[in-house]
Amino acid sequence: MSTLPREMQCLVKEKEGEGYELVTRPVPTPGPGEVIMKVERVAICGSDINLWKWNDLAKKIATLPFIPGHEASGEVVALGEGVTELKVGQRVAVENHFFCGCCYQCKEGRPAICQNMNQYGHGRGTREGGCCQYSCVPARYCYPLTRFITPDEAVLLEPMGVAHNAVESISVKAEDVLVLGCGPVGLLAMAVAKALGARVVYGVDQVEERLELALKMGADKVINTAKEDIKATVMAMTGNNGVGRIVEASGAASLLNQSFSWLRKGGQMVLVGLPKGPLHVENVLPDVIFKALTLKSVHGRRIFHTWEECERLLAEGQVDVEPIVSHRLPMTQFTDAFHLLMSGQACKIILDPQN
Ligand SMILES: [Zn+2]
Ligand SMILES: [Zn+2]
Repeated sequence: MSTLPREMQCLVKEKEGEGYELVTRPVPTPGPGEVIMKVERVAICGSDINLWKWNDLAKKIATLPFIPGHEASGEVVALGEGVTELKVGQRVAVENHFFCGCCYQCKEGRPAICQNMNQYGHGRGTREGGCCQYSCVPARYCYPLTRFITPDEAVLLEPMGVAHNAVESISVKAEDVLVLGCGPVGLLAMAVAKALGARVVYGVDQVEERLELALKMGADKVINTAKEDIKATVMAMTGNNGVGRIVEASGAASLLNQSFSWLRKGGQMVLVGLPKGPLHVENVLPDVIFKALTLKSVHGRRIFHTWEECERLLAEGQVDVEPIVSHRLPMTQFTDAFHLLMSGQACKIILDPQN
């Protein structure tokens, strides 16, 4: 503990309204069961835009005041009382679904969908998010890295885990897989689908630059919704059968609602994007019932199975996350980072709190 500085820089939202402030705060002291992680990287997620803007959704999922940042990785530099599972010097990444450990889901072995879940970086009982130099994290939410992966890869284990959870839930081996939406999670889903043995991966988006990223992440074929009719293209490419697997990662309700008609009979679909409109299927009999389809949804990762699998895929070089990282910035440039993200010019932005 003696080697830690007394103060640190962090981002904070103290009151209603848009944006964060960069402030100096005391370095936290770990309580029982907690560790201090020297934050090496914190990545910004699309969902962080809600918190930045402090819109209606943000008010439902976060509590003032808070230090933002739910995708973070670093090194353990101090241990609280009773922490035996981690050591000083251990590199970790944070599982941001702070599960309670005692509700029905936790007891059934599904803590990722805990009924009393708190989220790292959302205030409400969790002390710090990752947008700081030293974050206080309960040891049980830390994933200790077991192989060498870079700090940038470590911080992307969180969104990659969401993609992995989605793809793994619909058995893609030897299948044709269509991924709707080429944001970070969609792009990672394409790479994971290929790594898990998908035969053909289709990437769908309306932005040409994103489709180029899809090709770099392993998509075999891309469909630009601004120029092409998706259904006609899918049917032409699948001998009129429809596509076997769909990963919905666009969060566009209109696309999601049409996508049931592109699915092959007996096909499987997983929802991972966050649509703001209602789920609505026009032709229920042909597009849902008579298809005998499987519809899944996922929230977060499988704790800690997903982490182990993603770390392995990265360490073995089966997935390369580099193409999705559009910007690396010191944390002090957080305002630029959020403006880049909101303008649509960025894909994944990684911040370094130590610079
Ligand atoms: Zn995220
Ligand atoms: Zn629980």
